[in-house]
Amino acid sequence: MELSEYDLLVVGGGPGGYTAAIRGAQNGLRTVLVEKELLGGTCLNRGCVPTKSLIEDTRMIPAVRTCHFLKGDMKISVKRIAERRNSVVEGSRQWVRNLLKGNGVTFLSGHASFKDPKCLKVQTEEGEIREFRAKSVFLSTGAVEEYSSGLQADGKGIWCTDDALSLNPVPRRLAVVGAGNRGVEFASIYRNLGVGVVLLEREKRILPHLDPEISERYKKSLADRGIRVFTKTTVTAVHSGANGGVKVILEGQTGQQEFQVDKVLLTGRRRPRYEDLNLAAAGLSPKGEVLGHGAGFQTEVSGIYVIGDAAGPPYYAHKAISQALVAVDHLMGRTPIKASPFIPHCVWGDPEVAAVGLTEGEAIASGRNVRVGEFHFKGNGRAGTMGVDQGLILIVSDAKSREVLGVHMIGPQVTELISLATLAMENGIDVDGIKKAVFAHPSLSETFFEAALATDGQAIHLLMDTEEHEPER
Ligand SMILES: Cc1cc2nc3c(=O)[nH]c(=O)nc-3n(C[C@H](O)[C@H](O)[C@H](O)COP(=O)(O)OP(=O)(O)OC[C@H]3O[C@@H](n4cnc5c(N)ncnc54)[C@H](O)[C@@H]3O)c2cc1C
Repeated sequence: MELSEYDLLVVGGGPGGYTAAIRGAQNGLRTVLVEKELLGGTCLNRGCVPTKSLIEDTRMIPAVRTCHFLKGDMKISVKRIAERRNSVVEGSRQWVRNLLKGNGVTFLSGHASFKDPKCLKVQTEEGEIREFRAKSVFLSTGAVEEYSSGLQADGKGIWCTDDALSLNPVPRRLAVVGAGNRGVEFASIYRNLGVGVVLLEREKRILPHLDPEISERYKKSLADRGIRVFTKTTVTAVHSGANGGVKVILEGQTGQQEFQVDKVLLTGRRRPRYEDLNLAAAGLSPKGEVLGHGAGFQTEVSGIYVIGDAAGPPYYAHKAISQALVAVDHLMGRTPIKASPFIPHCVWGDPEVAAVGLTEGEAIASGRNVRVGEFHFKGNGRAGTMGVDQGLILIVSDAKSREVLGVHMIGPQVTELISLATLAMENGIDVDGIKKAVFAHPSLSETFFEAALATDGQAIHLLMDTEEHEPER
C-alpha cells in the first residue's frame, strides 16, 4: 500500500478545512486536503452560498411587485432561479479548487479515518485505500443536524434544508419547524415566492439567541409580509399522507392542534460530526458532544486540531475560517494565540439581522453599568433613497469606560454593517472612537455612527428626548 508523507493533513473541504489547507501551504507546509463529498463543504454546496443566491433572487419578487414605476404582470421562472443558484455554487467550488491548486495543496476525494494519531486511511472515490502520514492533522468535518424526537425528514413531504434548496416543487403551503437562522431564511425565500408559510417555534420568541427587541421586530416584519408565526409551539409529529399532503401535529398555547400543509421543512439543532473517523485510534474521545481543545484549537492529542463546526457552536462559516487561521498560527508556533471572541451572529433573511457581543440584558447581568445608543434607519438618508424606513442599530456600551460591549442590528445590509462593530470591538475602539470617524454620506453605515452619537443624546438625524436619550417615534 502506498504511504504518503505530509506536514499537514486536513480532513474536510468546507470553509474551515480549505482555509486551513491554503494557510498551511502559504506557510510552506506540505499539505493534503481530503474531502468525502463536495469541495466547499456545507457552506458552499448546501448552506451559505445557495441560500444567499436564493434570497437575492427571490427578494426581487416583492420588490418589483411593489415598485412604484414598474407596471403590469410579472412571470417568475423558478427554473432560472435554480439555474443561477447552481451556477453560483459551481463557480465558487471551481474557484476554491483553483485556490488549492495555486497554493500547492494536494486535493483528494475520499473518506478519511484514523489508523493512529499520525496516520490516516483514505478510501478514495474509486474504492482504493491509501495511507497518509502527517505531522499534524486538522479535523474540519462539520456538523450534522438532529431533530426533536418523533420528527424525521423523508425527502418527500417532510424536508430537510437540502430538500428545500431544490425549489422543486414550490409548495402552496409550507410549515417551517424552528425559527432559528435557517428557519427564518427559508421562510423568507418561500414567502417571496408566494407560498403560504407558517413558522413554528417552541421557544417564547423567534431567533431566541438574539436581543429581545430585535427578535420582536423581526417577528413583526415576518407577520407584515404574511408569514404566520407561532411561538411557544412544539411540533410533536408530522405525517406524510397518501395524497401528498403532510399532517402537522403540535402542542401550542391553546393545547393540541393539527393542520395540513403541502410540505414541512424541519430545521433541527446542529452538533459536531465525527462519525466514521475512528477517533479512538487517535486516542481521542469527545467530552459530551464536542472534542475538547485548548489554545489554538489543538485537541488533547498533540498535533491534532479541531476547527469549524466540528469544534462546536456557533455554527458559522466565518467562525470556521477564523479558527482555521488561528489554528495554523498555533501549529507554526506563533504567539500569542488568541481566538477572537467577537463572532457575529447573522441572519440573511428579509430583513437582515446581525449582532455581536453582549445584549443589554446580558451586560447588566454581568454587573456592568450600561448605556444604549439607538438609531433608526428611518433617520438615515441612504435608507430613505432605498425606500427603507424599518430597522435600527443598538450599541451597548459601558457607561464609564465607554467600551463597546455589544452591537445589535436589524435592517438593510446589516450583515455587512456588523463588520464595523467587530472591527471596533476587536481593536478596542470605544464609543468616542466611533464618534471621531468620518462616515460617507449618504450611507447606511451612518446609522452606526449615529447610534454612537445617540449614546450621549447627540444623534443628528433623529429627534431625541434629551432626558432619557430615547428617540422620538
Ligand atoms: C442551510 C444552511 C445555511 C447556512 N448559511 C450560512 C451563512 O449564510 N453564513 C454562515 O456563516 N454559515 C451558514 N451556515 C453554516 C455553515 O454552512 C457552516 O458553519 C460551515 O459550513 C462550517 O464550515 P466547516 O468547514 O466547519 O464544515 P463544513 O462546511 O460542513 O465542511 C465539512 C466537510 O467535511 C467533510 N467530511 C466530514 N467527514 C469527513 C471524513 N471522514 N473524510 C473526508 N471528509 C469528511 C464533509 O463532507 C464536509 O464537506 C449555513 C448552514 C446551513 C445548513
